[in-house]
Amino acid sequence: MSLLVEKFGGTSVADTEKIKYVRDRVIKTKEAGNDVVVVLSAMAGETNRLIALAKSIHPAPDPRELDVLMATGEQVTISLFAMACKEKGVEARSFLGYQIPIETDSIHTMARIENINPEALKTAIKQGIIPVVAGFQGVDRHGSITTLGRGGSDTTAVALAVSLGADVCEIYTDVEGVFTTDPNICPKARKIDKISYEEMLEMASLGAKVLEIRSVEFAMRYSMPIHVRSTFSSAQGTMVVEEDKSMEEILVSAVTYSKNEARITVKKVPDRPGTAARLFGPISDANIVVDMIIQNTREGELTDMTFTVGKGDYKKALSIIEDTAKDIGAEEVRGDTDIAKVSIVGVGMRNHAGIASKMFHILYQHGINILMISTSEIKVSCVIEEKYTELAVRALHEGFGLERGFG
Ligand code: ASP
Ligand code: MG
Repeated sequence: MSLLVEKFGGTSVADTEKIKYVRDRVIKTKEAGNDVVVVLSAMAGETNRLIALAKSIHPAPDPRELDVLMATGEQVTISLFAMACKEKGVEARSFLGYQIPIETDSIHTMARIENINPEALKTAIKQGIIPVVAGFQGVDRHGSITTLGRGGSDTTAVALAVSLGADVCEIYTDVEGVFTTDPNICPKARKIDKISYEEMLEMASLGAKVLEIRSVEFAMRYSMPIHVRSTFSSAQGTMVVEEDKSMEEILVSAVTYSKNEARITVKKVPDRPGTAARLFGPISDANIVVDMIIQNTREGELTDMTFTVGKGDYKKALSIIEDTAKDIGAEEVRGDTDIAKVSIVGVGMRNHAGIASKMFHILYQHGINILMISTSEIKVSCVIEEKYTELAVRALHEGFGLERGFG
């Protein structure tokens, strides 16, 4: 007998038929002798719809009230789900964030979980009741409703699993698991059976969308195994777990890409202490996340500085940088958004040389020019022209032998 936290995403509870289907699945798991805690997202598209409503009132809605509004999406699914269980004679009870409570800080729309008191859930479980918890929401110390950031139900599920001491946190979604790359652009992509937290974290931050980043960080910190699997199949999905020896033998585990990239170059910046601080200070004050930064070699007293930001932040970053560039006497600011980032990820890279150069060679063989490069212990990323994204992904997937199951 196990204690399972099972989270179902928006596409799994998109309408009442699907909710009944998921209910049947959960009841089966319970009848097999397991304790189950269910965490639900809002119906697919609902959170977007709510945000659009808010924006039709004000382009930048008040964050506290936006949280009150957004949290309603999950209230709908958990109540319907609990009703559906009762309709089958199975006891279930819905829980909103504040009813548990899931305590967070007060950063509306991006709150962090600070504490969970699992007693109410434990009591329900002991009484044979299935707790059905609203994902994505919590409550701050003033009693205000908060939300955890888009995709935050994953984090709710992992955090609950940790606080309850669950055996595993199952994340049910509309795909079979984590793939070696996006199957939509590379039909030879394979489902990965087992992957380390660290690789999953890199993949999530490099553009893979299966799991929300914070949920992986949380799972890694507390060694909570995550099982990513399909709602609509009984097949085993992907286990996200601690690294083991067998994982190191695989040099490259996955290829990821992100088209959400923009590049800004500041030409002829005075090369002296404090320039980078002057350039990037106002950018970070504006809460813009900078990804790669390259400073070119110096020509005389001047140098060029190039960096990337998310496409959504491009215009804002550009206008901030244009002002700063004037102040520090840089010659010119240029930018473009027709770029993408392709990356290879694998813990095996730590102990093997030549992976990066193999990646460069594969891109070269396909006539793809590399615009920027960045590396970490377990990943190599290249910025390329956006129009080559699909070609690059397929070439790297094949070049590293991922369709055969070894890299
Ligand atoms: N409903 C929220 C969202 O769409 C949270 C989630 O689905 O994980 O972002
Ligand atoms: Mg999600």
